[in-house]
Amino acid sequence: MKDCGCGGVVQVILYGFGGDLTYGKGSPEERRIGFVDKKNRTAPIRKTLIQIGLSALLPFNGKRAAHRASELLDSLMGHLRMDEEGRSIEPLSNPWKLDSAQDHQLRPQYQFDYDWRIGPFEAATQLNAFIEALCESTDHTKIALTGFSEGSAVAMAYLKEYGSARLETLILANGAWQGLTLAGELLTRRIGMAGARHTSFLLELLRPLVWGAMKYKIGPFYEQALLPLFAHMPAFWAFVPPDDYAQARARFAGQEKYEKLLAKADKYHDEVQLKAEELLRQARANSVKIAIVCGYGHPSIPVTKAKTYHTDTLIDTARASGGAAVARYGRKLSRSDSPYLSQDRIIDAATCMFPDYTWFIRGMRHEDGPSEALRKWVIESAGQVTVFDDTRFPQFMQLCPTKAITSAR
Ligand SMILES: [Zn+2]
Repeated sequence: MKDCGCGGVVQVILYGFGGDLTYGKGSPEERRIGFVDKKNRTAPIRKTLIQIGLSALLPFNGKRAAHRASELLDSLMGHLRMDEEGRSIEPLSNPWKLDSAQDHQLRPQYQFDYDWRIGPFEAATQLNAFIEALCESTDHTKIALTGFSEGSAVAMAYLKEYGSARLETLILANGAWQGLTLAGELLTRRIGMAGARHTSFLLELLRPLVWGAMKYKIGPFYEQALLPLFAHMPAFWAFVPPDDYAQARARFAGQEKYEKLLAKADKYHDEVQLKAEELLRQARANSVKIAIVCGYGHPSIPVTKAKTYHTDTLIDTARASGGAAVARYGRKLSRSDSPYLSQDRIIDAATCMFPDYTWFIRGMRHEDGPSEALRKWVIESAGQVTVFDDTRFPQFMQLCPTKAITSAR
Protein backbone atom coordinates (compact mmCIF):
# COMPACT_ATOMS: atom_id res chain seq x y z
CA MET A 1 0.00 0.00 0.00
CA LYS A 2 1.29 3.44 -0.90
CA ASP A 3 1.56 6.09 1.76
CA CYS A 4 2.19 9.77 1.22
CA GLY A 5 3.91 10.15 4.58
CA CYS A 6 3.32 13.90 4.84
CA GLY A 7 1.75 13.54 8.27
CA GLY A 8 -1.17 15.78 7.32
CA VAL A 9 -4.84 14.87 7.12
CA VAL A 10 -6.77 14.99 3.86
CA GLN A 11 -10.22 16.44 4.49
CA VAL A 12 -13.50 16.15 2.63
CA ILE A 13 -16.42 18.47 3.28
CA LEU A 14 -20.00 17.94 2.13
CA TYR A 15 -22.28 20.94 2.05
CA GLY A 16 -26.04 20.74 2.01
CA PHE A 17 -29.36 21.64 0.50
CA GLY A 18 -29.67 24.63 -1.78
CA GLY A 19 -26.24 25.17 -3.32
CA ASP A 20 -25.63 25.91 -7.00
CA LEU A 21 -26.26 23.22 -9.61
CA THR A 22 -25.19 22.91 -13.23
CA TYR A 23 -27.85 23.50 -15.85
CA GLY A 24 -27.47 21.89 -19.27
CA LYS A 25 -24.11 20.22 -18.65
CA GLY A 26 -22.17 20.03 -21.90
CA SER A 27 -24.72 22.07 -23.85
CA PRO A 28 -24.29 25.64 -25.14
CA GLU A 29 -26.72 26.73 -22.43
CA GLU A 30 -24.57 25.38 -19.61
CA ARG A 31 -24.65 27.66 -16.56
CA ARG A 32 -24.60 27.50 -12.79
CA ILE A 33 -27.99 27.98 -11.24
CA GLY A 34 -28.94 28.53 -7.60
CA PHE A 35 -31.76 27.49 -5.28
CA VAL A 36 -33.59 30.55 -6.46
CA ASP A 37 -33.02 31.23 -10.14
CA LYS A 38 -31.34 34.61 -9.77
CA LYS A 39 -31.34 35.20 -13.51
CA ASN A 40 -35.15 35.05 -13.49
CA ARG A 41 -35.70 36.54 -10.06
CA THR A 42 -36.32 40.25 -10.52
CA ALA A 43 -39.29 40.05 -12.89
CA PRO A 44 -41.51 37.68 -10.85
CA ILE A 45 -40.80 39.51 -7.59
CA ARG A 46 -41.64 42.86 -9.21
CA LYS A 47 -44.79 41.37 -10.73
CA THR A 48 -45.83 39.95 -7.36
CA LEU A 49 -45.19 43.21 -5.53
CA ILE A 50 -47.32 45.07 -8.08
CA GLN A 51 -50.04 42.46 -7.66
CA ILE A 52 -49.90 42.75 -3.86
CA GLY A 53 -50.25 46.53 -4.28
CA LEU A 54 -53.21 46.14 -6.62
CA SER A 55 -54.95 43.54 -4.50
CA ALA A 56 -54.75 45.87 -1.48
CA LEU A 57 -57.33 47.95 -3.34
CA LEU A 58 -59.62 44.95 -3.79
CA PRO A 59 -61.35 42.72 -1.26
CA PHE A 60 -59.02 39.90 -0.23
CA ASN A 61 -59.34 36.88 -2.49
CA GLY A 62 -57.73 33.79 -0.97
CA LYS A 63 -57.89 31.75 -4.15
CA ARG A 64 -56.13 34.48 -6.10
CA ALA A 65 -53.46 34.82 -3.41
CA ALA A 66 -52.86 31.06 -3.49
CA HIS A 67 -52.52 31.21 -7.26
CA ARG A 68 -50.06 34.14 -7.10
CA ALA A 69 -48.02 32.34 -4.44
CA SER A 70 -47.87 29.22 -6.63
CA GLU A 71 -46.82 31.29 -9.64
CA LEU A 72 -44.12 33.06 -7.72
CA LEU A 73 -42.74 29.83 -6.26
CA ASP A 74 -42.71 28.28 -9.71
CA SER A 75 -40.90 31.17 -11.35
CA LEU A 76 -38.27 31.29 -8.62
CA MET A 77 -37.77 27.58 -7.97
CA GLY A 78 -39.58 25.70 -10.74
CA HIS A 79 -36.24 24.69 -12.29
CA LEU A 80 -35.67 22.42 -9.29
CA ARG A 81 -38.76 20.29 -9.85
CA MET A 82 -38.42 16.52 -9.98
CA ASP A 83 -40.86 13.91 -11.22
CA GLU A 84 -42.76 11.39 -9.08
CA GLU A 85 -39.78 9.04 -9.13
CA GLY A 86 -37.40 11.70 -7.90
CA ARG A 87 -35.69 12.42 -11.23
CA SER A 88 -34.83 15.93 -12.34
CA ILE A 89 -37.22 17.36 -14.93
CA GLU A 90 -34.82 20.05 -16.14
CA PRO A 91 -31.30 19.06 -17.24
CA LEU A 92 -29.81 19.83 -13.85
CA SER A 93 -26.96 17.95 -12.22
CA ASN A 94 -23.90 18.49 -10.10
CA PRO A 95 -21.20 16.04 -11.13
CA TRP A 96 -18.27 15.94 -8.73
CA LYS A 97 -14.83 16.76 -9.90
CA LEU A 98 -11.51 16.29 -8.21
CA ASP A 99 -8.82 18.87 -8.71
CA SER A 100 -5.85 16.53 -8.75
CA ALA A 101 -3.54 19.53 -9.11
CA GLN A 102 -4.52 20.71 -5.63
CA ASP A 103 -1.55 20.30 -3.29
CA HIS A 104 -3.07 18.56 -0.26
CA GLN A 105 -0.17 19.57 1.95
CA LEU A 106 -0.97 23.22 1.34
CA ARG A 107 -4.74 22.94 1.00
CA PRO A 108 -5.90 19.75 2.70
CA GLN A 109 -9.64 20.39 2.31
CA TYR A 110 -11.59 19.08 -0.67
CA GLN A 111 -15.21 19.84 -1.37
CA PHE A 112 -17.43 17.08 -2.69
CA ASP A 113 -20.17 18.46 -4.94
CA TYR A 114 -23.42 16.62 -5.45
CA ASP A 115 -26.95 17.32 -6.56
CA TRP A 116 -28.51 17.99 -3.16
CA ARG A 117 -31.98 17.00 -4.41
CA ILE A 118 -31.09 13.33 -4.89
CA GLY A 119 -31.24 10.85 -2.04
CA PRO A 120 -28.40 10.37 0.46
CA PHE A 121 -27.63 6.87 -0.86
CA GLU A 122 -27.32 8.05 -4.46
CA ALA A 123 -25.04 10.85 -3.29
CA ALA A 124 -23.07 8.38 -1.12
CA THR A 125 -22.32 6.23 -4.17
CA GLN A 126 -20.79 9.28 -5.84
CA LEU A 127 -19.00 10.22 -2.62
CA ASN A 128 -17.42 6.78 -2.50
CA ALA A 129 -16.05 7.23 -6.02
CA PHE A 130 -14.79 10.68 -5.01
CA ILE A 131 -13.05 9.42 -1.85
CA GLU A 132 -11.43 6.53 -3.73
CA ALA A 133 -10.15 8.92 -6.43
CA LEU A 134 -8.89 11.31 -3.74
CA CYS A 135 -7.04 8.58 -1.83
CA GLU A 136 -5.50 7.40 -5.08
CA SER A 137 -4.45 10.91 -6.04
CA THR A 138 -3.00 11.91 -2.63
CA ASP A 139 -1.57 8.54 -1.59
CA HIS A 140 -3.53 8.70 1.65
CA THR A 141 -5.53 5.73 2.89
CA LYS A 142 -7.85 7.62 5.22
CA ILE A 143 -9.62 10.96 5.24
CA ALA A 144 -11.47 13.25 7.67
CA LEU A 145 -15.06 13.64 6.56
CA THR A 146 -17.27 16.57 7.57
CA GLY A 147 -20.96 16.40 6.75
CA PHE A 148 -22.60 19.79 7.08
CA SER A 149 -26.42 20.09 7.08
CA GLU A 150 -27.73 17.61 4.46
CA GLY A 151 -24.11 16.53 4.02
CA SER A 152 -24.41 14.80 7.41
CA ALA A 153 -27.14 12.52 6.00
CA VAL A 154 -24.95 11.74 2.98
CA ALA A 155 -22.01 11.00 5.28
CA MET A 156 -24.19 8.64 7.33
CA ALA A 157 -25.45 6.87 4.20
CA TYR A 158 -21.81 6.51 3.12
CA LEU A 159 -20.98 4.99 6.50
CA LYS A 160 -23.86 2.53 6.13
CA GLU A 161 -23.00 1.52 2.58
CA TYR A 162 -19.21 1.66 2.49
CA GLY A 163 -18.20 1.29 6.13
CA SER A 164 -15.58 3.24 8.02
CA ALA A 165 -12.36 1.82 6.56
CA ARG A 166 -11.55 5.11 4.80
CA LEU A 167 -12.54 7.34 7.71
CA GLU A 168 -10.19 8.70 10.31
CA THR A 169 -12.65 11.34 11.56
CA LEU A 170 -16.35 11.91 11.04
CA ILE A 171 -17.85 15.28 11.95
CA LEU A 172 -21.58 15.93 11.75
CA ALA A 173 -22.13 19.66 11.81
CA ASN A 174 -25.48 21.47 11.97
CA GLY A 175 -26.67 18.15 10.69
CA ALA A 176 -29.96 16.98 9.19
CA TRP A 177 -29.05 13.32 9.78
CA GLN A 178 -31.90 12.92 12.32
CA GLY A 179 -34.33 15.06 10.36
CA LEU A 180 -35.82 18.44 11.11
CA THR A 181 -39.24 19.33 12.40
CA LEU A 182 -39.82 21.80 9.59
CA ALA A 183 -39.63 19.07 6.93
CA GLY A 184 -41.96 16.82 8.91
CA GLU A 185 -44.44 19.66 9.23
CA LEU A 186 -44.33 20.39 5.54
CA LEU A 187 -44.92 16.81 4.43
CA THR A 188 -47.67 16.25 7.00
CA ARG A 189 -49.27 19.61 6.23
CA ARG A 190 -48.90 21.10 9.67
CA ILE A 191 -47.53 24.33 8.29
CA GLY A 192 -49.00 27.68 9.12
CA MET A 193 -47.71 31.17 9.66
CA ALA A 194 -46.87 31.90 13.26
CA GLY A 195 -43.98 32.46 15.58
CA ALA A 196 -41.25 35.03 15.83
CA ARG A 197 -40.01 37.21 13.02
CA HIS A 198 -37.29 35.56 10.99
CA THR A 199 -34.15 37.08 9.63
CA SER A 200 -34.57 35.78 6.09
CA PHE A 201 -35.42 38.65 3.78
CA LEU A 202 -37.08 36.40 1.20
CA LEU A 203 -39.21 34.71 3.84
CA GLU A 204 -40.41 37.99 5.27
CA LEU A 205 -41.12 39.27 1.77
CA LEU A 206 -43.25 36.22 1.05
CA ARG A 207 -44.88 36.14 4.46
CA PRO A 208 -48.10 38.14 3.78
CA LEU A 209 -48.66 36.26 0.54
CA VAL A 210 -47.98 32.83 1.96
CA TRP A 211 -49.91 33.65 5.09
CA GLY A 212 -52.95 34.71 3.05
CA ALA A 213 -52.68 31.67 0.82
CA MET A 214 -52.50 29.36 3.79
CA LYS A 215 -55.14 30.98 5.89
CA TYR A 216 -57.76 31.13 3.20
CA LYS A 217 -56.84 28.58 0.58
CA ILE A 218 -53.98 26.45 1.74
CA GLY A 219 -55.17 23.60 -0.48
CA PRO A 220 -54.20 24.69 -4.00
CA PHE A 221 -50.93 26.33 -2.95
CA TYR A 222 -49.91 23.36 -0.87
CA GLU A 223 -51.05 20.64 -3.28
CA GLN A 224 -49.96 22.22 -6.55
CA ALA A 225 -46.89 24.18 -5.67
CA LEU A 226 -45.24 23.48 -2.34
CA LEU A 227 -45.75 19.75 -1.92
CA PRO A 228 -44.66 18.52 -5.38
CA LEU A 229 -41.62 20.78 -5.30
CA PHE A 230 -40.24 19.34 -2.07
CA ALA A 231 -41.83 15.89 -1.77
CA HIS A 232 -40.49 14.79 -5.15
CA MET A 233 -36.93 15.39 -3.99
CA PRO A 234 -35.62 12.15 -2.45
CA ALA A 235 -33.29 14.22 -0.25
CA PHE A 236 -36.22 15.96 1.39
CA TRP A 237 -37.51 12.65 2.73
CA ALA A 238 -34.29 12.18 4.66
CA PHE A 239 -35.17 15.39 6.52
CA VAL A 240 -38.48 14.04 7.81
CA PRO A 241 -37.95 13.20 11.47
CA PRO A 242 -38.72 9.67 12.70
CA ASP A 243 -41.91 10.68 14.53
CA ASP A 244 -43.48 12.20 11.39
CA TYR A 245 -42.31 9.62 8.91
CA ALA A 246 -45.27 7.21 8.91
CA GLN A 247 -47.79 10.01 8.53
CA ALA A 248 -45.83 11.75 5.78
CA ARG A 249 -45.42 8.48 3.94
CA ALA A 250 -49.10 7.50 4.18
CA ARG A 251 -50.04 10.35 1.87
CA PHE A 252 -48.03 8.82 -1.00
CA ALA A 253 -48.25 5.11 -0.20
CA GLY A 254 -50.26 2.74 -2.40
CA GLN A 255 -49.74 4.84 -5.54
CA GLU A 256 -47.61 3.13 -8.14
CA LYS A 257 -46.08 6.36 -9.45
CA TYR A 258 -44.50 7.04 -6.05
CA GLU A 259 -43.13 3.54 -5.43
CA LYS A 260 -39.55 4.31 -6.45
CA LEU A 261 -39.48 7.57 -4.53
CA LEU A 262 -40.79 5.90 -1.38
CA ALA A 263 -38.31 3.04 -1.71
CA LYS A 264 -35.47 5.59 -1.57
CA ALA A 265 -37.13 7.37 1.34
CA ASP A 266 -37.65 4.12 3.26
CA LYS A 267 -34.06 3.06 2.79
CA TYR A 268 -32.70 6.15 4.52
CA HIS A 269 -35.34 6.10 7.22
CA ASP A 270 -34.93 2.38 8.05
CA GLU A 271 -31.22 1.84 7.49
CA VAL A 272 -29.72 5.15 8.59
CA GLN A 273 -32.02 7.47 10.50
CA LEU A 274 -33.23 4.75 12.88
CA LYS A 275 -29.85 3.00 13.01
CA ALA A 276 -27.62 6.06 13.34
CA GLU A 277 -26.42 5.37 16.85
CA GLU A 278 -25.47 1.80 15.96
CA LEU A 279 -23.64 2.92 12.80
CA LEU A 280 -21.69 5.54 14.72
CA ARG A 281 -20.83 3.09 17.51
CA GLN A 282 -19.48 0.65 14.93
CA ALA A 283 -17.39 3.43 13.40
CA ARG A 284 -16.11 4.40 16.86
CA ALA A 285 -15.21 0.75 17.54
CA ASN A 286 -13.24 0.91 14.31
CA SER A 287 -11.25 3.89 15.79
CA VAL A 288 -13.03 6.61 13.83
CA LYS A 289 -12.99 9.90 15.76
CA ILE A 290 -16.46 11.35 16.05
CA ALA A 291 -17.67 14.88 16.70
CA ILE A 292 -21.18 16.26 16.57
CA VAL A 293 -21.47 20.04 16.48
CA CYS A 294 -24.61 22.12 16.47
CA GLY A 295 -25.87 25.63 17.06
CA TYR A 296 -28.61 26.86 19.38
CA GLY A 297 -30.14 30.10 20.53
CA HIS A 298 -32.25 30.83 17.44
CA PRO A 299 -36.05 30.36 17.13
CA SER A 300 -37.57 28.02 14.54
CA ILE A 301 -38.66 29.34 11.14
CA PRO A 302 -42.15 30.84 11.61
CA VAL A 303 -44.07 28.60 9.23
CA THR A 304 -45.15 26.21 11.91
CA LYS A 305 -48.10 26.11 14.23
CA ALA A 306 -45.91 24.40 16.82
CA LYS A 307 -44.39 26.30 19.71
CA THR A 308 -41.05 27.69 18.75
CA TYR A 309 -37.98 25.65 19.65
CA HIS A 310 -34.21 26.09 19.63
CA THR A 311 -32.52 25.86 16.26
CA ASP A 312 -29.39 26.95 14.45
CA THR A 313 -31.92 29.14 12.52
CA LEU A 314 -33.07 26.04 10.58
CA ILE A 315 -32.48 22.65 12.19
CA ASP A 316 -33.74 21.70 15.66
CA THR A 317 -30.87 21.62 18.13
CA ALA A 318 -32.44 18.56 19.78
CA ARG A 319 -32.22 16.58 16.52
CA ALA A 320 -28.89 17.87 15.16
CA SER A 321 -27.27 16.93 18.47
CA GLY A 322 -28.55 13.37 18.35
CA GLY A 323 -31.05 13.71 21.18
CA ALA A 324 -30.17 16.48 23.62
CA ALA A 325 -32.87 17.64 26.03
CA VAL A 326 -33.45 21.26 25.00
CA ALA A 327 -35.61 23.75 26.89
CA ARG A 328 -38.46 25.31 24.99
CA TYR A 329 -37.36 28.59 23.40
CA GLY A 330 -37.35 31.33 26.03
CA ARG A 331 -37.50 28.84 28.92
CA LYS A 332 -34.90 27.03 31.00
CA LEU A 333 -34.47 23.44 32.14
CA SER A 334 -34.73 22.81 35.84
CA ARG A 335 -31.56 22.72 37.87
CA SER A 336 -29.85 19.38 38.09
CA ASP A 337 -26.44 17.94 38.76
CA SER A 338 -26.07 16.58 35.22
CA PRO A 339 -22.46 17.12 34.12
CA TYR A 340 -23.87 17.82 30.63
CA LEU A 341 -26.17 20.70 31.63
CA SER A 342 -25.32 24.02 29.99
CA GLN A 343 -24.70 26.98 32.27
CA ASP A 344 -27.65 28.83 30.71
CA ARG A 345 -29.77 25.73 31.50
CA ILE A 346 -31.05 25.47 27.94
CA ILE A 347 -29.44 22.15 27.08
CA ASP A 348 -28.78 18.89 28.87
CA ALA A 349 -26.66 16.71 26.62
CA ALA A 350 -26.92 13.64 28.87
CA THR A 351 -29.61 12.16 26.61
CA CYS A 352 -27.50 12.54 23.43
CA MET A 353 -26.29 9.43 21.63
CA PHE A 354 -22.73 10.62 22.31
CA PRO A 355 -22.79 13.19 25.12
CA ASP A 356 -18.99 13.20 25.37
CA TYR A 357 -18.49 13.99 21.68
CA THR A 358 -21.24 16.56 21.16
CA TRP A 359 -20.55 20.30 21.17
CA PHE A 360 -23.05 23.17 21.23
CA ILE A 361 -22.34 26.68 20.04
CA ARG A 362 -24.78 29.31 21.22
CA GLY A 363 -25.64 31.83 18.52
CA MET A 364 -24.12 29.82 15.68
CA ARG A 365 -26.33 30.12 12.63
CA HIS A 366 -27.00 27.26 10.28
CA GLU A 367 -25.01 28.74 7.44
CA ASP A 368 -22.04 29.45 9.71
CA GLY A 369 -21.17 25.78 9.44
CA PRO A 370 -18.96 24.12 12.03
CA SER A 371 -16.43 26.09 13.95
CA GLU A 372 -13.18 25.89 12.02
CA ALA A 373 -11.08 25.98 15.19
CA LEU A 374 -13.03 23.16 16.84
CA ARG A 375 -12.98 21.11 13.67
CA LYS A 376 -9.24 21.58 13.26
CA TRP A 377 -8.66 20.49 16.85
CA VAL A 378 -10.76 17.32 16.42
CA ILE A 379 -9.14 16.44 13.10
CA GLU A 380 -5.57 17.03 14.26
CA SER A 381 -5.82 15.33 17.64
CA ALA A 382 -4.17 11.93 17.93
CA GLY A 383 -7.26 10.14 19.23
CA GLN A 384 -10.90 10.68 20.11
CA VAL A 385 -11.39 13.93 22.04
CA THR A 386 -14.20 14.68 24.49
CA VAL A 387 -15.96 17.76 25.78
CA PHE A 388 -13.90 17.51 28.97
CA ASP A 389 -10.46 17.43 27.32
CA ASP A 390 -9.57 21.03 26.53
CA THR A 391 -10.78 24.21 28.21
CA ARG A 392 -10.73 25.96 24.82
CA PHE A 393 -13.42 23.58 23.59
CA PRO A 394 -15.91 22.86 26.37
CA GLN A 395 -19.27 21.29 25.55
CA PHE A 396 -21.01 24.66 25.46
CA MET A 397 -19.49 27.59 23.65
CA GLN A 398 -20.60 31.02 22.63
CA LEU A 399 -20.25 32.21 19.07
CA CYS A 400 -17.58 34.87 19.16
CA PRO A 401 -16.22 35.80 15.74
CA THR A 402 -13.09 37.46 17.09
CA LYS A 403 -12.02 34.51 19.23
CA ALA A 404 -11.52 30.81 18.66
CA ILE A 405 -14.96 30.09 17.23
CA THR A 406 -15.32 31.37 13.72
CA SER A 407 -17.52 30.54 10.79
CA ALA A 408 -16.61 27.99 8.15
CA ARG A 409 -17.46 30.05 5.10
ZN1 LIG B 1 0.00 13.66 2.34
